[in-house]
Amino acid sequence: AGKDWQMMLRLRSPGGRIPPALFLALDDLSNRLGNGSLRATTRQAFQIHGVRKEDLREVISTIIRSMGSTLAACGDITRNVMAPAAPYEKGGYPAARQLANEIADVLSPTAAEGSYLDLWVNGNATYRIRPSRRVKKVRTRQHQGNVFSGDAKEPLYGTTYLPRKFKCAVTVPGDNSVDLLTNDIGLVVFTAANGEIKGCNVYVGGGMGRTHNNEQTFARTADPLGYVAAEHVLDLVQSILALQRDYGDRKTRRHARMKYLLNDHGISWFKQELKSKYFLHPIKALRPEPKSKLEDYLGWHQQSVGQWFVGLPLLSGRLEGDLKKGLRQLVETFQLEIRLTPNQDLLLCNIGTSQRSSVRKGLAALGIRAPEAPAMLARHAMACPALPLCGLAVTEAERTLPALLERIDAQLRRLEITKSILIRMTGCPNGCARPYMAELALVGSGVDQYQLWLGGTPNLQRLAKPYLQRMPLDQLESTLEPLLLSWKQAGGRRSLGDHVNKLGDQAVLGLLSGNGQA
Ligand code: SF4
Repeated sequence: AGKDWQMMLRLRSPGGRIPPALFLALDDLSNRLGNGSLRATTRQAFQIHGVRKEDLREVISTIIRSMGSTLAACGDITRNVMAPAAPYEKGGYPAARQLANEIADVLSPTAAEGSYLDLWVNGNATYRIRPSRRVKKVRTRQHQGNVFSGDAKEPLYGTTYLPRKFKCAVTVPGDNSVDLLTNDIGLVVFTAANGEIKGCNVYVGGGMGRTHNNEQTFARTADPLGYVAAEHVLDLVQSILALQRDYGDRKTRRHARMKYLLNDHGISWFKQELKSKYFLHPIKALRPEPKSKLEDYLGWHQQSVGQWFVGLPLLSGRLEGDLKKGLRQLVETFQLEIRLTPNQDLLLCNIGTSQRSSVRKGLAALGIRAPEAPAMLARHAMACPALPLCGLAVTEAERTLPALLERIDAQLRRLEITKSILIRMTGCPNGCARPYMAELALVGSGVDQYQLWLGGTPNLQRLAKPYLQRMPLDQLESTLEPLLLSWKQAGGRRSLGDHVNKLGDQAVLGLLSGNGQA
């Protein structure tokens, strides 16, 4: 196997929806032309690793012919639009899914679609990717001597596209399965009793990526922008994208995400600029939202009258071996749709009441008897692929995570701590597994050495902070022990992240045993 030819290919699947025929095609492609596994990403899309250059055309054209797409899954453009994976037909869920699809549609590149099809399926228009377009005419403007305006063929992106990747997520009030505040645009959908969308709370300027030893780069949670009526929401997301297109930093790539615009100029400037030049409709005060929760939908749930779905845990989103074979059989036999969650788990959907016991038996045969009860720490832990699959990785993440969780689990048992911890791990500071929102995160800073981040919340509402720069992995338990003991002694139901936050930086540093470099 050579580094020279091995590629990763990522799909675009708004809200994580994978129809049965597409899943069967992906399973087949990953077996024949990939490394045998599929990986569910933290943005609800499948990745296939290990694709050879000479097989790319077959892989991509098969995906397109199976009604999937890889268009705009990477690059300086709008990435996969997230939405709650649960296929509930109740409350605001259908509206949130619908809005995510519409956003993915209007923020797709227009001109690129033709060349994409030319390149991969001989321009066969049967395989149109987007059913409809509602692209507004976004005004052009002069900025720093360059015109970054849309043109007739590519009204939103123009010829220069965006300065950097752009991420959107939609959810319903109280459901933070999508890690809303880590996105460039986060939308919370409010609906009427009949499920019709009334409008959205809008958050702007979140993002995780940063670079070690570069204080100019940082993780950031999104700022509240306000509430916008339903009929203007698509205009709004296009307007925000156009503002970032025009003002985003095109000179320094590490300063190009929209979060830096928000940080440098502030939300008031952003709102003013948006209203005066791009978006001419009212932006009202945010509507109150209930306390949010990291919903993971594991286990059995009623989807609608006569239909069910079951959420299955996948550690780090990796689907391979007997589990992959067994799921293929279930999908094929019962024509089940798959939905991927932002927690890298997998939902088997559209299970009829009469099929339930057969699916349950099929899962039991795969060793999955209680899908709602994976090991405590594993339930919400995430890791990025890192070594050997990512060229930016400085150390391990996905391959080390199972052992890491076992070690922390053993330590918690020994200390008789029964509460869980939200743990995330990445092989570099780029932040693909959103580590900076975790209660405890390890971010690779050297071979088997990690920055230690602490202080996020179990419902993903607050950024963690870095406490140690280079903690050797073999000193994990001794480093954490005094902090875990102080958490235990504090008693009550407070999470580790809240305990850290309450202690304050100096006290936390004092407890970390002086391991690693503070
Ligand atoms: Fe690669 Fe870094 Fe992203 Fe992990 S966080 S997948 S190491 S770029």
